[in-house]
Amino acid sequence: MTGLVWFRQDLRLDDNDALLQAMQNHRKVVAVVALTEAQWSDHEWAPIKRDLYQRQLNFLGEALAELGIELRVVQCDYYRELPRLLLQLANEVQVSALYANRDYALDERRRDAAVDAWFEQHDLQCHWFDSNLLVRPLEVKPQTSGYYKKFTPFFKSWCARLAELGIAESSKRTLAGYKGKAEALNFTPIDLDAAKRDASQWARTERDAGVQLQGFIEEQVADYQRKRDVPADDATSRLSPLWEVGVLSPRAAARALQALSPEFPYGLDEGAKTWLSELAWREFYQHLMFHVPALSMGKAFQAYTEEFPWRYDKADFARWCEGRTGYPIVDAGMRQLQAEGWMHNRVRMIVANFLVKDLHIDWRWGERFFMQHLVDGSFAANNGGWQWSASTGTDAVPYFRVFNPTRQSEQVDPQGLYIRKWVSELNNVPAKYIHTPHDYLRAKGSTDYPQPMVDHKAARETFISTFKGLKTAV
Ligand code: FAD
Repeated sequence: MTGLVWFRQDLRLDDNDALLQAMQNHRKVVAVVALTEAQWSDHEWAPIKRDLYQRQLNFLGEALAELGIELRVVQCDYYRELPRLLLQLANEVQVSALYANRDYALDERRRDAAVDAWFEQHDLQCHWFDSNLLVRPLEVKPQTSGYYKKFTPFFKSWCARLAELGIAESSKRTLAGYKGKAEALNFTPIDLDAAKRDASQWARTERDAGVQLQGFIEEQVADYQRKRDVPADDATSRLSPLWEVGVLSPRAAARALQALSPEFPYGLDEGAKTWLSELAWREFYQHLMFHVPALSMGKAFQAYTEEFPWRYDKADFARWCEGRTGYPIVDAGMRQLQAEGWMHNRVRMIVANFLVKDLHIDWRWGERFFMQHLVDGSFAANNGGWQWSASTGTDAVPYFRVFNPTRQSEQVDPQGLYIRKWVSELNNVPAKYIHTPHDYLRAKGSTDYPQPMVDHKAARETFISTFKGLKTAV
């Protein structure tokens, strides 16, 4: 009988346990992808992320065809239609079992539970794997009970578990063995029927993604700790879109780091260690999705913060979205997001802090806007990043720590290189004035760049005193 492999956020052949297991258990394997446009719209998938998904799907379809594996497409609006449609396909191609890698947010878990139950009712088995994480959610637990709410102990325990588990070998060799057995097929490219925005600069074949990863490890990771907060330096991996659609596996990253230290995950130099911790942040937020369903329902992790009197001012929000706040670093970040569908991590933190703590606008508006524009839009990482910045989440930045956008700008972009790249009105402003260019521009008779839309000091005080009031009231 045939094995059916259902690809979702794991558009790769290597380190894909679902695919590997299906190949080992069945003489014939068929692959399927479900295009659920309406559901993705509900989840705010950005047009650029859809384009990336389509491009990666087509790379995958070609690679599967070379192995003699057909990629079938199931198309419907919502996840709820999938049990019936997948079963229909399973019957058509005479499948005895379905294989997939788990996703951890609530809608996806409900989707998978429904498919699992429906297949079981029809005497078909589903096999679930966790290839998108290095350590599964239930494998990192505090000694007491529950789950880690703070990153530092999570990271410690995550590293210990990783050391015990080790990193599975790449499945490239097994795949190469399979290649000889089947006739290559023709593949007809898939076209997503939705608004898209060109993501070609982010798309990579699996091989090229591996080359990019390796290049980063060899040439940049050593300096990561020192340079990662400087947006003009471009010193981070820019691999986030590839993790999000699953072209790269976290195991590939772990193996690359392991080559730097035989005691992996220990014994790494500062740069590599810090980068490993970023991979752990990614997993921390996925684990939280698993443990805290309320996060998938738009709720703050710290329930008392729901009482904050958030503002819902559309005009102010539009100025933030368009990068017209009058704070150069914030505007540069928002314009990078609009232009590239991506933003440097430090700047994501600065713009998020600004929306929430200077404009007092509900963090969920920012979270949604990010998802609508990011090529790496990840529900878990984005929600985690926003709740961290808004001081509403687990292990969030304390509410009284409010970023000063001007000081941040001076620290992370002292010469204004990043600002000038994205804010053309400030192209000719010397470094000395770049962080607060208003007087300089006025003296030059230039009125293109907006005045600061809010007084930071006053906004900060209001935020802190209101938040403090909430905490005291609990
Ligand atoms: P690197 O610095 O090279 O890090 C390597 C990888 O680690 C990243 O590719 C990413 O997968 C992971 N990572 C790094 N930092 C974080 C973090 N703080 N949290 C979780 N994972 C992390 N990341 C997303 O992938 N998707 C999002 O939608 C997203 N939204 C964010 C929203 C806010 C408000 C904030 C503050 C952060 C958000 N992040 C998000 C995390 C982070 O900004 C990006 O992962 C990072 O900028 C991607 O760049 P990189 O690939 O060069 O990262």
